[in-house]
Amino acid sequence: MEKAATERAEDYLEVIYDLISKKGYARIVEIAERLNVRPPTVTEMVKKLSEKGLLVHERYRGFTLTEEGERIAKAVQRRHETIANFLMILGVDKEIAEQDACRIEHNLHPMTLERFTKFVEFVQNAPQDPEWLEHFEHYVKTGEHKCKVIKENTEQ
Ligand code: MN
Repeated sequence: MEKAATERAEDYLEVIYDLISKKGYARIVEIAERLNVRPPTVTEMVKKLSEKGLLVHERYRGFTLTEEGERIAKAVQRRHETIANFLMILGVDKEIAEQDACRIEHNLHPMTLERFTKFVEFVQNAPQDPEWLEHFEHYVKTGEHKCKVIKENTEQ
């Protein structure tokens, strides 16, 4: 698949997987809503995905992802969560972080993704709220480095 087609496929698998995990099923109309496309576009795409062996569409059961389809969907979901968490650590609002995660999630170099993952882990597993993160927030709000002030205080 060419690059744009791969991205599109990943978006579909991600949404279908999410709908199935949350509701137990995915319907064309809901997929269309989530991806901001028209239902006929969804119908066309799911046909392609089913031809590639990534999902199965049965009249009464609706959609199920194949093992390979689910593997891809889970990988995209993991990338999405990592990126969204990273952006939220930086102070980006959840809604924007989620939107941007979907834009970025397809195109990251594995090394960048690995560092994002480590960084998110590092912050989330910190025994206390990292002080430097507060410093960063202070810097965002005021444009000033807080650590200078602290240094001066300890010198007194
Ligand atoms: Mn996404």
